[in-house]
Amino acid sequence: WKHAPATFRALLETSRFHGEQTFVVYEDQRLTFEEHFLLAATLANRLVDDYGIRKGDRVAIAMRNYPEWIVAFSATLAAGAVAVPLNAWWTRQELEYGLTDSGAKLLIADGERAERLAGGGVPTIVTRADDANWAEVIGEVVPDVTLPDVEVGPDDPATIFYTSGTTGRSKGALGSHRNLGQAPMTVAYALMSSVALGGKDPAEAAAVRRVTLLTVPLFHTTGCFAVLMPTFLTGGQLVLMYKWDPKRALELIEREKITTMSGVPTNAWQLLSHPDFGEHDISSLTAISYGGAPAPPKLLERITELLPNRTPGNGYGMTETTALAVYNSGRNYIAKPESIGLPAAVIDIKVCDPQGVEVPVGQVGELCVRGPIVIMGYWNRPDATAETFVNGWLHTGDLARVDEEGFVYIVDRAKDMVIRGGENVYCAEVEAALFEHAAIDDAAVIGIPDDEMGEQVGAVVRLKPGATATVEELQSFLSERIAKFKVPVRIWFRETELPRNPGGKILKTHLRRETLGL
Ligand code: ATP
Ligand code: MG
Repeated sequence: WKHAPATFRALLETSRFHGEQTFVVYEDQRLTFEEHFLLAATLANRLVDDYGIRKGDRVAIAMRNYPEWIVAFSATLAAGAVAVPLNAWWTRQELEYGLTDSGAKLLIADGERAERLAGGGVPTIVTRADDANWAEVIGEVVPDVTLPDVEVGPDDPATIFYTSGTTGRSKGALGSHRNLGQAPMTVAYALMSSVALGGKDPAEAAAVRRVTLLTVPLFHTTGCFAVLMPTFLTGGQLVLMYKWDPKRALELIEREKITTMSGVPTNAWQLLSHPDFGEHDISSLTAISYGGAPAPPKLLERITELLPNRTPGNGYGMTETTALAVYNSGRNYIAKPESIGLPAAVIDIKVCDPQGVEVPVGQVGELCVRGPIVIMGYWNRPDATAETFVNGWLHTGDLARVDEEGFVYIVDRAKDMVIRGGENVYCAEVEAALFEHAAIDDAAVIGIPDDEMGEQVGAVVRLKPGATATVEELQSFLSERIAKFKVPVRIWFRETELPRNPGGKILKTHLRRETLGL
């Protein structure tokens, strides 16, 4: 290697090995590995020569799931710059925050985002609009193009991904080339275990080229690191969806002979519940996995019933762990549907009390993670970095316990807990109990400030169309399932959808404000 290995540039060079194989599919468009390499290398040279991008400069990317997103990402990293994927759902103000916070020198955006940001002050390359100049920007693609001459090492920064902003303002997670290189490996280990544990013959499974349906945005780490990067590294094929649509997903699985679908639990749930589910030939599908948010055990029941002999998987991870960190799949998952599984082979975990002392096996504490997928820190936030990354350990802010066999269970978010008179009530537990009621379509538990108890338990619910239930009915239903002190003292019925972010997570701060006026 001319350049140090374990950088994205090395992965990009390696990907040429898969040459004429299809890498990305979007609608009628197909991009081979070689075409992707040539486009990325050509754009990388333009970034350096025409836009003055230097090592460490930030290049923001604001696009939906178009093939151009992948080319822009690859080109940025190949040029030694730091890719800053921005949330395509963000408003103008939020996008401006991302640009300013990251100090982006250049923006690569699709037509819609470019328009939303018109006059935003950052030079912009527009990729997909009626008057797009993308082809002109990239320029002539020649087969002997080489990557720009930049020295990049494994510990140089590669990406800034913004966290989902569930618990507060999104933070920029600064990831290195090492993080990026290790992330596909964590997925690879997970896949190996899923093949073995799913009861399939590994040779047979390996002979099938993985064709993966991307159901989540590329601008979150799940899409980029747990779906795109492993595909890139293993010569698989990625089928992009502009936006999630269960009907379209069924059609694409049939048309493209998709073998693997990954996303958030809601994707799998909606696919299996779609009225046209039985109308499509989806026999190619061998694995269905999800992560990023708590997966209701009922989802697994559905999968084993409707898709028998497929490998189901549930992954836990966060922006700060470059996506997947703990993974449960196949037989293990069926045996322990409430667990997020075993830690990826590349990491260590521990469960600690608030003082940072490890708690005995089986007890609840904060989950901490150490290893090569843990990011370098938060961009421009020394305080948050010092608070979250302590002596090499990432404090996840999630409460967990580990059983005798090492399986991890997420109990709740440390911040998503109601403390009622000193007694911890885990919102997730109360929500799970509410979901067992037939009339409930959606539910979220929140803390209500209370002079006497500090906080009281409250719930906001949305009923299924046509269903009825009273507060008293729901309370007595819950009393049979959970301790009295956990039963919400107030329940609000809501007609509209609960506020969620694109990752499917309920925005509790938002919900508390709307419900309680806080
Ligand atoms: P912010 O950090 O900005 O408040 P966020 O934590 O939602 O937002 P992400 O990094 O996208 O941002 O999400 C990581 C979190 O998602 C984890 O800390 C955990 O709470 C939750 N999570 C991820 N996977 C799972 C899973 N399989 N089961 C339960 N919870 C999960
Ligand atoms: Mg977080």
